[in-house]
Amino acid sequence: MKLVTYNHAGQRHVGAVKDEGVISLSAIAPDMLSLIDLGAEGLVQAQVIIAKAPDITPLSSVKLLAPIPEPRRNIICLGLNYAEHAVEHYTTSGQQTVLPDYPIVFNKATTTANGPFDDIPFDPSVSAEYDWEVELAIIIGRKGRKISREHALDSVYGYMVLNDISARDLQRRHKQFFLGKSLDGACPMGPWIVTADEVENPQSLRITSRVNGVTKQDSNTKLMIFDVPATIEHLSLAMTLLSGDIIATGTPDGVGFARKPPEFLKAGDVVECEVEGIGLIRNMVALI
Ligand code: MG
Repeated sequence: MKLVTYNHAGQRHVGAVKDEGVISLSAIAPDMLSLIDLGAEGLVQAQVIIAKAPDITPLSSVKLLAPIPEPRRNIICLGLNYAEHAVEHYTTSGQQTVLPDYPIVFNKATTTANGPFDDIPFDPSVSAEYDWEVELAIIIGRKGRKISREHALDSVYGYMVLNDISARDLQRRHKQFFLGKSLDGACPMGPWIVTADEVENPQSLRITSRVNGVTKQDSNTKLMIFDVPATIEHLSLAMTLLSGDIIATGTPDGVGFARKPPEFLKAGDVVECEVEGIGLIRNMVALI
């Protein structure tokens, strides 16, 4: 199932995509987090509504929002989780490459959440180095602690595409990643949550980004250093994961700061991020 949050006729709904249309699931849950909280039972109820073939609203007539427009807490992110990205990171900063023995974990503020086709707010007085990072995002389906690798995929509700927009100058200036990763609107996501049952193997998906139609990143999720089960095992060893948690699994090589010469986003640029079998998000950089 592909689950969306959308606006239609002045109302926000949670819904399921069918063909080129969307079916409201508002009768089950008022929003995506409530639907996720219902777990498998919520998905069974959704199937019943879809099977009844109610009115289908054309996708073209709704506005898709971030699937989780107001996350419960900060988006949990992995850094340097693809070896080639670690190499470009260390090489650009003149350091010896060291692949992580344990996941590098940071986060993005909830106010970074942005729609799959909305503008990325660009304020050059805050940062001149907006960069792109296509990532596969995990949505956690049930609360858990000390989840073993063997059981990790059972706790996954679904997946979506995420662009971990990063202000490189702020990352450098403030040392710690948090501020540079947390500019308003710096986390476009979606366009929907693909439920886990429809993703046979999250570690074999082509992952790409383009800026103004030019490919910048082209890799595969099989190259993650810490795969989805390892990520969940490591995180949940230290902290309780909650239903609705968003975990960004890191970006492959090809980001702007490591290019020669470096490239950063400017007003009017269009960034596309795509993960095979999951979806595509497209956002324009817009001056504010
Ligand atoms: Mg990232």
